[in-house]
Amino acid sequence: MIQTRNIHKSFGSLEVLKGVNVTLDKGKVLVIIGPSGSGKTTLLRCLNLLEVPDQGEIQVGDIALNFAKGTKLRQESILALRKRTGMVFQSYNLFPHMTAVQNVMEGQVTVQKKNKDEARKRALELLKKVGLADKAESYPHQLSGGQQQRVGIARAMAVEPEVLLFDEPTSALDPELVGEVLKVMKQLAAEGMTMVIVTHEMKFAAEVADHVILMDQGVIVEQGTPHEVLEQPTSSRAIQFLNRLS
Ligand code: ATP
Repeated sequence: MIQTRNIHKSFGSLEVLKGVNVTLDKGKVLVIIGPSGSGKTTLLRCLNLLEVPDQGEIQVGDIALNFAKGTKLRQESILALRKRTGMVFQSYNLFPHMTAVQNVMEGQVTVQKKNKDEARKRALELLKKVGLADKAESYPHQLSGGQQQRVGIARAMAVEPEVLLFDEPTSALDPELVGEVLKVMKQLAAEGMTMVIVTHEMKFAAEVADHVILMDQGVIVEQGTPHEVLEQPTSSRAIQFLNRLS
């Protein structure tokens, strides 16, 4: 289960998150949509502490952290929360000097302290799962963007996180490569993986999300089922955003 309470985050004088509350049950998919600059990526990065909130609370599984002013965060708590999340980045962020299988092994060896044989076995299983069994020994530059992103998904899953976080996973891809990545994500959702996805792919959001939140200017302006948010929005800012897309 994931829960945030009253998350605030500023960069200098720019307040990017202004009190965000999110709840997501285990096995469910949350999709975050909204205009550029509304704070979607910042919220996602707060969930694994790539950005540290200025205020509020975050719970992922059995780990709960409080960011109230004056509270000192313990390094172990930060690491514990990070271990429960796996991040898939817009620009893949694979290690260029490592093969696909080495990329998927890395976190297992360094974070989970698994031995190399065990890590390699799991990495090969995961590469098979994302349709890349035959690319295990390829380097990132030998792979298409869609293939690199599928390695990125396998890598995020390798350390057995409680939740996968996706930051616009298809927006750097050529249009013809988007489908293969969305297909893998749909398969994971169907298998009961808990996922939080920032995306501009509305059709995908409608198909895969259990819950959608629409952000604008650092707050949630609409939330509910895909049907409620995408088809029957009530706030003027949500209606404006969705009208611009159609
Ligand atoms: P997009 O859809 O364009 O990716 P977004 O909704 O994901 O947008 P964020 O990336 O969360 O928005 O950014 C929200 C605001 O915070 C933007 O104005 C952005 O310029 C600013 N911002 C984000 N990260 C930083 C940072 N590290 N330092 C300063 N400002 C930042």
